[in-house]
Amino acid sequence: MVARKYDGVPVALSHGSRTATAAALSEIHLAPGMTACEVVEAVSTVIRKPIFLEPTVDDRFKMTTGGFAVTPEFVVIVFRGIDPHAYQMHSLFHELGHLLCGHRMCDRPGTQLESGAVDQLLWNETEREAEFLAYKITSLISRKTRNSQAFG
Ligand SMILES: [Zn+2]
Repeated sequence: MVARKYDGVPVALSHGSRTATAAALSEIHLAPGMTACEVVEAVSTVIRKPIFLEPTVDDRFKMTTGGFAVTPEFVVIVFRGIDPHAYQMHSLFHELGHLLCGHRMCDRPGTQLESGAVDQLLWNETEREAEFLAYKITSLISRKTRNSQAFG
């Protein structure tokens, strides 16, 4: 397999991950035009816990793009308030992807926004699943029809 750079296309998934992400997506019912808040609501219903969002400019998050914490009663998703809006949305959907897959933590490599380059070989399977779901969610709620070849 040739190493690919993070270039805005969905990451390659193993067969097991494809099955897991397809099952996760089937749990929520996304439609074009849905807002990020509605997506959060949909995921919250599936995992049966309220989800709180917390943008932060905390120093601890300078090197990571976000994360989440699961407590017995609720979930908190933290993302960097300094990132461009579209990137914040992507980070949010990435964390929601983890929640839908039942992952317990996010171990995403820090993204260099300047170059947009992340070596995907550094990513583990759960990170690839979450990233794939982030793209899928963005695609499914987009009002624009997309070329399906990117999501085959
Ligand atoms: Zn992650």
